[in-house]
Amino acid sequence: MADTGTHFDIVVLGGGSGGYATALRAAELGKNVALVESGKLGGTCLHNGCIPTKALLHAAELADNAREGSHYGVQSELTGIDMNGVNSYKDGVIAGLYKGLQGLIKSRKITVIEGHGRLVGQDAVEVDGQRYTGDNIVLATGSYARSLPGLEIGGRVITSDQALTLDYVPKSAIVLGGGVIGVEFASVWKSFGADVQIVEALPHLVPNEDEALSKALERAFRKRKIGFTLGDRFSGVTQDDSGVHVTLESGKTLDADLLLVAVGRGPRTADLGYEAQGITMERGFVIVDERLRTGVGNIYAAGDIVPGLQLAHRGFAQGIFVAEQIAGLEPTPIVESGIPRVTYCEPEVASVGVTEADAKETFGADAVEVLEYNLAGNGKSKILGTTGFVKLVRQKDGPVVGVHMVGARVGELIGEGQLIVNWEAYPEDVAALVHAHPTQNEALGEAHLALAGKPLHAHN
Ligand SMILES: Cc1cc2nc3c(=O)[nH]c(=O)nc-3n(C[C@H](O)[C@H](O)[C@H](O)COP(=O)(O)OP(=O)(O)OC[C@H]3O[C@@H](n4cnc5c(N)ncnc54)[C@H](O)[C@@H]3O)c2cc1C
Repeated sequence: MADTGTHFDIVVLGGGSGGYATALRAAELGKNVALVESGKLGGTCLHNGCIPTKALLHAAELADNAREGSHYGVQSELTGIDMNGVNSYKDGVIAGLYKGLQGLIKSRKITVIEGHGRLVGQDAVEVDGQRYTGDNIVLATGSYARSLPGLEIGGRVITSDQALTLDYVPKSAIVLGGGVIGVEFASVWKSFGADVQIVEALPHLVPNEDEALSKALERAFRKRKIGFTLGDRFSGVTQDDSGVHVTLESGKTLDADLLLVAVGRGPRTADLGYEAQGITMERGFVIVDERLRTGVGNIYAAGDIVPGLQLAHRGFAQGIFVAEQIAGLEPTPIVESGIPRVTYCEPEVASVGVTEADAKETFGADAVEVLEYNLAGNGKSKILGTTGFVKLVRQKDGPVVGVHMVGARVGELIGEGQLIVNWEAYPEDVAALVHAHPTQNEALGEAHLALAGKPLHAHN
């Protein structure tokens, strides 16, 4: 059907990672696309998530470098953190990327509709009383910072949204939740000079990772004097002029300037008309098949509202997938375990594929081989002064099914890790490939050499 101004091939609800990737790819494929956004194009990742947190973490790394300069013979000292300066650097990065994204959307002739949209039919979205119809609808309304029952956000009790706009460094902070967002903020604040304590209900920090990585991160945080309480739950909080006072179920009490609530993100799907159109929902998430179809009309969903890893690059991949699916290109379904995961605290934690425990459950304990290559044998890591390891999980006589790493900057190595896992490479295949020296990348090469039975710089 021709564009009448309010009819499109595709109407995308939500202009974050999932939504704008759908729009960009669909436009590239010749589709006439409307993108409905109530806030800013780019969504959580660009404005309140990935980009601002990574800018803070970079400033934190510089603070650590300044503090530790003398170890390298560089006379430097950390005399303070100017949060206004940090924030203007961070906001400058966001502004540049935002401008670039707006230009991209415009150049692909995508119609941006500003305002709050609701699904009002199987082929219709309403924004400010105006109905827009589409041959296909893509839901990508993203997520919000969750809290716990009875734990109200306000004052000294904040989520990542407020933490990203603080114009001071707290003297002390309690971080509720030892997942990705929690440990990243804990790491930033510690580097900026705050006393930090993390509370995690599960037995480990970053509990979704291979246990070896969790334990290594816990050792590193202990060394950095980041406090943490594991296997204990939040029970209550009060706040007054002096700070926040948190009680845990064990009876333990903690005091600090601030409480950061980082207990996960809920899908932003309430009151948007999804259920009314017959879409299957579970705990607020939109249920889809492997082709991201909701099963109602030509309605698809992408990004954080779909159960699974809440990551920007998953949103991008799902957005591209949906656009190609609509265009009839029959794209290959995305394998969730093949999506790389990085936690950008110091030290970084990065992984792709399955954990040792999951591999043993899937293939049987005897059918799995594991190798750990210590970064102590890696020249570049030694130069950087970082410790950690690369852990490989392999199906016996079969491909590498998991790559797990911990150490400064290992997030940059996961690109190779994900090629290895997703291309189902054998250790022997990777061992034959030459890695540049001295790079941290080499640690991946060395780990595969060792797993292929021909270790080089590895102490047995
Ligand atoms: C602190 C933090 C750090 C993070 N760090 C990383 C990281 O380092 N790497 C990574 O991969 N991921 C990271 N994430 C996760 C990442 O931000 C999300 O996975 C990603 O943004 C999800 O994309 P999305 O399109 O599903 O949703 P969103 O990015 O949330 O976008 C949804 C968009 O829809 C709009 N919208 C919602 N409802 C409506 C409506 N009714 N009408 C119109 N518009 C609407 C919203 O305004 C928003 O712009 C982080 C998240 C946080 C909070």
